[in-house]
Amino acid sequence: MYFYEISLLNSPLTPLTYNHNIGLSLGVEVEVQLRNRTLLGIVVSICEEPVFKTTSITKVTTFHYSQIQVKCAKFISEYYFCSLGEALQLFTPFLEEKREEGEPLGQDKREEGRGKREEDGSVSKIVLSTKQVEALDFLQKHPVSLLFGDTGSGKTEIYMKWFEEALAQGKRAIFLMPEISLTPQMEIRLKEHFGDAVVMWHSKVTKPQKKKLLERIYNGSAKIIAGARSALFLPIEDLGLIVVDEEHDDSYKASSRPRYHARDMAIYMGKLYDVPVLLGSATPSMNSYVKFPHTRLKGGHFSATREFTFEACREEVTTSVESAIVQTTGQGEQAMLFIPTRANFKYLICESCGHTHSCPYCSVGMSVHRKSNAIKCHYCNFSERIPSQCSECGHEMLSSNRLGTAEAVHFFEESHPNIRVGQFDRDAVSTQKKLKKLLKAFNAKEIDLLVGTQMLSKGHDYHDVTLAVILGLDNQLNMSDYRAREKTLSLLIQIAGRSGRKKAAQVLVQSYNKEFFEAYIGKYEQFLEDEKEFRKGLYPPYKKLARILFAHKYANKAEEAMQEMVEKLRCSTTIETIGYGPSQIEKIANKYRYQILLRADKSTDLIAAIQSSRVSLAEIDMDPIEFN
Ligand SMILES: [Zn+2]
Ligand SMILES: [Zn+2]
Repeated sequence: MYFYEISLLNSPLTPLTYNHNIGLSLGVEVEVQLRNRTLLGIVVSICEEPVFKTTSITKVTTFHYSQIQVKCAKFISEYYFCSLGEALQLFTPFLEEKREEGEPLGQDKREEGRGKREEDGSVSKIVLSTKQVEALDFLQKHPVSLLFGDTGSGKTEIYMKWFEEALAQGKRAIFLMPEISLTPQMEIRLKEHFGDAVVMWHSKVTKPQKKKLLERIYNGSAKIIAGARSALFLPIEDLGLIVVDEEHDDSYKASSRPRYHARDMAIYMGKLYDVPVLLGSATPSMNSYVKFPHTRLKGGHFSATREFTFEACREEVTTSVESAIVQTTGQGEQAMLFIPTRANFKYLICESCGHTHSCPYCSVGMSVHRKSNAIKCHYCNFSERIPSQCSECGHEMLSSNRLGTAEAVHFFEESHPNIRVGQFDRDAVSTQKKLKKLLKAFNAKEIDLLVGTQMLSKGHDYHDVTLAVILGLDNQLNMSDYRAREKTLSLLIQIAGRSGRKKAAQVLVQSYNKEFFEAYIGKYEQFLEDEKEFRKGLYPPYKKLARILFAHKYANKAEEAMQEMVEKLRCSTTIETIGYGPSQIEKIANKYRYQILLRADKSTDLIAAIQSSRVSLAEIDMDPIEFN
């Protein structure tokens, strides 16, 4: 009889002991019983017979997790404070028995892949400029490197060249992108060159499609695995390279447990697999800029100019915004309008008493969606009819503020019916199909004006935009977040970078902080240098932060748990409690929220302090990027 510690997949429990009559190796997936339920678990260690009675493993499946996957999951569970079972749940296991070489399915696929590429001619079509060649040479000298390249400077060609080299050596590559950048455009570009060797892996891929793609990953015909966060955890042998595109993007950080950062995990996995990791961005994160050697790629393929003008006001379609858009579209050119808020308006406010209509379950204002005649909570999705009078004082005049995308679309459709308007946000672009359709229409010039949220800034190519209007940046700049300046400036540069790809463009920015933006336009490097001084001794990457959240439907329960942990933390001398109290958003989905913010020189100090003082309600967020 053998005894094993089994981590239950997706369970917050610590590993449990089970027995089995034959020897099993680490990482094997098994079925076990727990309180009359059949659950999947992973053998994470072999142990002595315990003093208590154990039950038997009921079944050994055909899947297993590699040693590296288990090691990586252990790291995630310790660093990001989750159970090993929750960390293992991120991974897709390997098939226990590899396919025989002669088995029809696998071979067919391999032949197919090979045939395709030979038809295309095996000579490389990726021709790099001298600058790009120099950049690639530099990057290949370092285990982790940063490609700091302006939008349109040819980062993707460099990635593709390196993929090609990896493939020529019989290796495979992981290509991480923020979810929304996984556009049809990128897919076409990769497939044109690498054919069936490319697999696109993201949340919009259906289950049956995933099964087919996984088949190709198992049989080895998929060589370049392009995808969002989860692609990092696929069962890939012979890995030769990991590329993290748009490495500054916040969507790499998971917002629920395990709260890992995919870029940081890529770097960790690069070490485990002993493969190089390439980070790329036009606006690199402070973190990567400080930590890793970088090479700078300036200018675009199209050396078009951008002229910035500023207007001191908050998100409003002013006459200057309106006339700039009318003029540009009137000349048969395209315009983009960025607004951070979706819906018609962010808030509904009483004109008499000033009461803001808040979600009954969250302490946030409800947004106005005119199309569905509803106010909606963007945190918990609760919605109700737009009220006709104030719930506090009964006054009948309610006004809306903080303009949203839908309202701007509405405005232009009403007052300028000749301008063809497209809406680019989560409400309008809910499926991959809709995204495809919208981008196609915009690039075919069937849309004159594209109105959108942050989605506009992500990795898409808009060829002929000559006007970019950017509203509402000040809201982000004024947030109490140590990264507010970095995030806002990066956003401005990313959006502006979508315009003027071929022709000179005008960028109109509404902000009361003209001096800040003007100082750093075209000088992101200078910004990072100056920002270093602000961060030193206080914030990452020079210090490590952890946020501890306490959420409970009774406010006093959450507060008491927070107080208890604050007291316990006083014993740790290597960390500093920066602050504690109710969260900025005091309630979400009917739970009251309290938090503690911790700081230390080393993450090991933070982890040790948290481990020794943790209370049961505490939810730990290491390297947090959200503070409200
Ligand atoms: Zn009122
Ligand atoms: Zn809500």
